[in-house]
Amino acid sequence: AGARGTAYLDDLNPAQREAAEALDGPLLMLAGAGTGKTKTLMARIANLVASGRARPNEILAVTFTNKAAREMRERLAKQPFHLLEPLRWMGTFHSISVKILRRHAELASLKSSFTILDTDDQIRLMKQVINAANIDEKRWPARQLAGIIDGWKNRALTPGNVPNAEAAAFGNRGTELYAAYQDRLRSLNAVDFGDLLLHVVTIFQAHPDVLAQYQRWLRYILVDEYQDTNVAQYLWLRLLAQGHKNICCVGDDDQSIYGWRGAEVGNILRFEKDFPGAKVIRLEQNYRSTPHILAAASSVIAQNAGRLGKTLWTEEQAGEKVRLIGHWDGEEEARWIGEEAEALQRGGRRMRAVSLNGQAILVRGSSQMRAFEDRFLTIGLPYRVVGGPRFYERAEIRNAMAYFRLAVSPEDDLAFERIVNTPKRGLGDKAQQVIQMTARADGTSLLEGARYAVAAGKLGGKGAAELRRFVENVDRWHKAIAAASPATARSPAEDDDELIELEVASVPPAHDHSHVRLAEEILEDSGYIAMWQNDKTPEAAGRLENLKELVKALEQFDNLQGFLEHVALILDNSSEEESEKITIMTLHAAKGLEFPVVFLPGWEDGLFPSQRSMDESGQKGLEEERRLAYVGITRAEELCTISFAGNRQVYGRWQSQMPSRFIDELPEADVEVLTPPGLYGGGYGAAAGFGSSSGGSSVEARAAKADVYNSPGWRRLQDRAGNRPVSQPKESRHTVIDLDAVSAFDVGDRVFHQKFGYGHVQEIEGDKLAVAFATGVKKIVAGFVVAASE
Ligand code: ATP
Ligand code: MG
Repeated sequence: AGARGTAYLDDLNPAQREAAEALDGPLLMLAGAGTGKTKTLMARIANLVASGRARPNEILAVTFTNKAAREMRERLAKQPFHLLEPLRWMGTFHSISVKILRRHAELASLKSSFTILDTDDQIRLMKQVINAANIDEKRWPARQLAGIIDGWKNRALTPGNVPNAEAAAFGNRGTELYAAYQDRLRSLNAVDFGDLLLHVVTIFQAHPDVLAQYQRWLRYILVDEYQDTNVAQYLWLRLLAQGHKNICCVGDDDQSIYGWRGAEVGNILRFEKDFPGAKVIRLEQNYRSTPHILAAASSVIAQNAGRLGKTLWTEEQAGEKVRLIGHWDGEEEARWIGEEAEALQRGGRRMRAVSLNGQAILVRGSSQMRAFEDRFLTIGLPYRVVGGPRFYERAEIRNAMAYFRLAVSPEDDLAFERIVNTPKRGLGDKAQQVIQMTARADGTSLLEGARYAVAAGKLGGKGAAELRRFVENVDRWHKAIAAASPATARSPAEDDDELIELEVASVPPAHDHSHVRLAEEILEDSGYIAMWQNDKTPEAAGRLENLKELVKALEQFDNLQGFLEHVALILDNSSEEESEKITIMTLHAAKGLEFPVVFLPGWEDGLFPSQRSMDESGQKGLEEERRLAYVGITRAEELCTISFAGNRQVYGRWQSQMPSRFIDELPEADVEVLTPPGLYGGGYGAAAGFGSSSGGSSVEARAAKADVYNSPGWRRLQDRAGNRPVSQPKESRHTVIDLDAVSAFDVGDRVFHQKFGYGHVQEIEGDKLAVAFATGVKKIVAGFVVAASE
């Protein structure tokens, strides 16, 4: 230990400091958003190490995302002392489980080189299992089975111990298919995400000697975002902590947002039962947000029943109120936010300039992202998408990865299937069936099946020659990989020091880039690069770019295996980006993060709260949605803007929307209602504030009749804005006409229709109009067109 100082404790308040100093025994820190839970957890780690109580590799620190683990590492590196060793056991439940499982794979009947399947592969495998059981996959979709099995895995249930009460699942065949699926995974030497925890828990339960080793090694356990642990994760923690009971969990029941994935807030209550005498520390001062933001968040979450209850206060200055704004449609909302983000960046608002990195748009569903991406691409506003359709999910990347996977593990049948005929090798369905049957008959992998099918002359023509070359290529790649990395098989370490030595010994020499060259070679030799070079579609160039990016990403790893593991576990791809960008991400992914400026778009009933979640889980679902709203608002430090649109395209159909019920739950005094830049010179500045109506021009009177203003949702907003009609967005210059307003049209008027564009009214017949569009005359219900200026 020695004179390392305790500067890491100096900037904590008394309650935080108490938590950072109570190092032994169970501790539960239960506190609201922004109270410094994560900060305190890090001070605790620093304290453990600096006081000499534990070495870094004796600390198990579980974070919610890999990104959070990275941030913690970086922040610890800045502490005023030097960690002599890195924190090896800091990461997500999944990444730590992979590490443990690789060491003891044989205890789960796996090889330590097992592959981790992504959702796509998982579903594909389930389809195969369903088909093999002669079940009609159309009536019994694989996705449904995947949901059921994931649910069981989240509760640490193996096929053998699913309760009888649930035997009826999936037409009485759920458990049978679960067992078959697990068998398939084993024969493929693969695991899915849920398995990572399940296997580790099973191993710990069945092999007390193995568990005892880890209990000895990992002497201090810390868990962030504890409220979102599921049963399997809870068991995992309890097993590890049982011996020494040095476990510190921090969480906030109001931020529990993964119930749909099996998380149980009950784990918080169970903690005190399982660890009697646990110290419970509450933090109440929020250091993140202004009072208005905090008041808005508190007022919304107060509507939930059955909370553990917390008070939050802040010393921050009042600052800006939470802003609320309604838009005509989703595109307009995106346009406004784009302009607003740029204005804030320039410092053109009432607050200090905020760089794009300090701004985030948090959406309920990733489908909301497209409007923003499209708009930002148009205006050239740099953005990053986190947790949306990701780089590694693009088809060309997945194919390239399948090549790498096959080269690393030739028995990876899913990878084989994915690329054996990509690029085209003249292997039709028939040829692929022959390969499958040969492999099955011999009980081997598909690659071996292919080798044999070719040798035995079971395949003819061009396909046979190409397949032979494919198999030879894979052999060559695999040899190159095996030659580069010495055997990694290792038995579980006997004791502490051996564990460390093994870890050190297994680190390959740095800056050896042979795997990068090999990856390039694989993509070249397989003909995959050529396939895209010869492709004449507009996307081809972008795909080649992405493949280049992929190879570039490899440089940061020591070998292909490490890279594959990284990608399998990756939760976001935001790490390597340096330049200034606004972040677009889901509310779920934003947990634990903070931004000076936060936009919360799409607060519309059905979208947020999500209809699906309410339909599936009723009141419980609604409360989880509300916690999500709380998470969203509390990400904001200085400025939080909530918005909604009156119209939105859902699955390609226009739909009119009602503002979210959560908007009604916002406290009037802490909210400022903005009107969008109006048709009539309203603009941002003039529109700010309540009741600054400019009075009823005839145009405005006409606008007031418009459909959009008659919807209950808009009326609610109007009421809030002091009965001032919200004017139409400037750029669209459209006024919606509803049934009552048909008389507002005259023959000859110019109108606009979402699908057909601009046209002129030719005839009026009740609520229907005949409109001449560029593409011809169409009969339209008047409510679907809006008046447009010439
Ligand atoms: P969440 O529930 O959202 O995860 P949290 O409780 O983990 O929040 P932190 O992220 O640790 O909160 O802290 C929120 C912000 O407050 C951070 O910017 C942190 O640096 C700051 N902060 C926390 N405690 C203090 C303190 N004692 N003095 C000054 N700043 C603090
Ligand atoms: Mg936190």
